[in-house]
Amino acid sequence: MAATLMGIGACPAQAQTKTVAGAGKDTPLPPGLDDQWIDRSADPCTNFFQYACGNFSKLNPIPPDMSAYGTGAIVYNHTQEVLHALLEKASVDSPSRTPDEQKIGDFYASCMDTDAIHAAGLKPLQPELDQINALTDKKELTPLLAHFQMLNVTAFFNYSEQQDFKDARKQIAIVDQGGLGLPEKDYYLRTGAAAEKTRQEYVQHVTNMLKLMGEPEGKATSDAQKIMALETSLAKISMDITPQRDPKNVYHPMDKAQLAGLAPEIDWAEFFERTQTPAFTELNVANPEFFKGLNALLESTDLDTIKTYLRWQLIHSTPSYTLPEAMDEETFNFYGRDLSGQPQQRARWKRCVQATDGALGEAVGKVYVEKNFTAEDKARTVQMVHDIEAAMDKNIDTLEWMSPETKIKAKAKLNMVADKIGYPDHFRDYSKLTIIRGDALGNAQRAAEFENHRELDKIGKPVNRDEWFMTPATVDAYYDPSMNDINFPAGILQSPLYDPHADDAENYGHVGSIVGHELTHGFDDQGRLFDGNGNLINWWTPEDAKQFEAKTNCEVKEYGNFTAVDDLKINGKLTLGENTADNGGIRLAYLAFLVDAQRKGIDLTKKDKYGYTPVQEFFVAYGQNWCGNQRPAQIRLQVQTDPHSPREFRVNGVVQNMPQMGEAFGCKPGQPMMPVNSCRVW
Ligand SMILES: [Zn+2]
Repeated sequence: MAATLMGIGACPAQAQTKTVAGAGKDTPLPPGLDDQWIDRSADPCTNFFQYACGNFSKLNPIPPDMSAYGTGAIVYNHTQEVLHALLEKASVDSPSRTPDEQKIGDFYASCMDTDAIHAAGLKPLQPELDQINALTDKKELTPLLAHFQMLNVTAFFNYSEQQDFKDARKQIAIVDQGGLGLPEKDYYLRTGAAAEKTRQEYVQHVTNMLKLMGEPEGKATSDAQKIMALETSLAKISMDITPQRDPKNVYHPMDKAQLAGLAPEIDWAEFFERTQTPAFTELNVANPEFFKGLNALLESTDLDTIKTYLRWQLIHSTPSYTLPEAMDEETFNFYGRDLSGQPQQRARWKRCVQATDGALGEAVGKVYVEKNFTAEDKARTVQMVHDIEAAMDKNIDTLEWMSPETKIKAKAKLNMVADKIGYPDHFRDYSKLTIIRGDALGNAQRAAEFENHRELDKIGKPVNRDEWFMTPATVDAYYDPSMNDINFPAGILQSPLYDPHADDAENYGHVGSIVGHELTHGFDDQGRLFDGNGNLINWWTPEDAKQFEAKTNCEVKEYGNFTAVDDLKINGKLTLGENTADNGGIRLAYLAFLVDAQRKGIDLTKKDKYGYTPVQEFFVAYGQNWCGNQRPAQIRLQVQTDPHSPREFRVNGVVQNMPQMGEAFGCKPGQPMMPVNSCRVW
């Protein structure tokens, strides 16, 4: 797994369109620019988000089964409907199904089979529960922790693999902090009434789950308190979310003996053997202080409390759709209603579509792209990506703050960026994964084990540069600094983000700015620390690095002043990379569009059917990338855990730094969207 993927954050997760009969009709894809979303009573110079998107929420209120709803969510819902039809078809048992169709069809059908899930109850988890019950000494913990890691039950810490930051040709094991049930360490430690309330709700949730597992009320209540105390201790030894953005803070290569010295309570030799990790000498202990603290915690905590915590982590990490209805509903009640403000659980089929894509994404994607992503779509996108890369090359020349020396190196890195469009050249081989119809929980466990073994098997082997870390149907995109590649799954290359029938101005404003965003990630506060080969190597002169920091500080201040909800401000440092990418992204798309317009002889003074010049059209399309609304609880969750700024600021925060927008709409310097002092990094 990549340690530091940088996504666009378009939406929670998946996938597209047309050929399967009726698929996607409930949620049609909007056109490249939607005139109805525009609030023409708003002044684009005062609040551009309101102008481009002001009517969106009236026309598209947040559905009760979502915590946010916007442009990306429409594409996501549409794609879910397409995948739904595809999976329903694959779930019909027939000898003509391919092995992949059998797997995706039966995985989906098992997820939908609530009768079988209810009848099985917790029986499928009995082997793991028995293992916990059988523990008589902390010395016996290791095999259980190893088994749990492979099931994605990440009690106490996380175990995986990554490309070596210092040598991207190598794949190494990584152990990292983990083991919390709340979204982030600060949830345990923050003061104030809202934080206090969330902790009370969490303890209640843990209590309820333990009761549903058969514990009597009194014991469940006291066990939940013990779990909360233990997790709070884990939170205290965990690193904050913002410093984790700096790769050097989470990179501590050492050998197995050194790890054993930090945390001897775990038998690491046995752990690596039980997880069938290939032989290795060096691994990354991302946060050594955490493992030192974890060891002390394991020493001082009594075995009964550890067993209670493990029971909780087991049930908590098991996908709730595989659990009996009461547990599934209880899980939604806390993580959906309380934490995200979502009134209603998603329909079962939607959750099963997502689960199937999560477990077997490239098998689903293979069928999906056959009918929903053409060679022509790919060729057009490749052209746009090349245009935007060329724009970045030219843009580097215009940077007054960067020395010629560093410019040459920046361009060298840019030249080495690999472009990945649509889907991988070779789809993943799932032949070793067994999917049994009627065994939802077993399927989820086997899929987790299959995936974790696949990851760990990479250790010591050459890097597969063709690999993708998002599924083809995903409505999102990412840059990976270790691979130095930009990745655009077929799912995001759909209208309105990419519409083959729309004006170029619209496509450059939409997906063009997303391409620019991912490309800029290679040069944000995190990406700039890696070179073209994906190695953590400083290629900056000290003076240029200083200049870069001064430029980014402008954005840290700008965004840090935005109030997201109530009195909660955006964390300017946590969101810096995404904000830099948003700002660079629109600039590159704009520059590329001007080149495209010249090449095609587009008249920049001619107004379109909406009354816009092409440049105005470009900016409105950009704004409409982020139309939408979020529930207040969801904004709170996002600001505390997500490096992306809330949507309104992804528009207004950016156009304030693009005087070309103000000029196109006749704004005057000093108006809110055209401040006299603006920020520019790239
Ligand atoms: Zn991003």
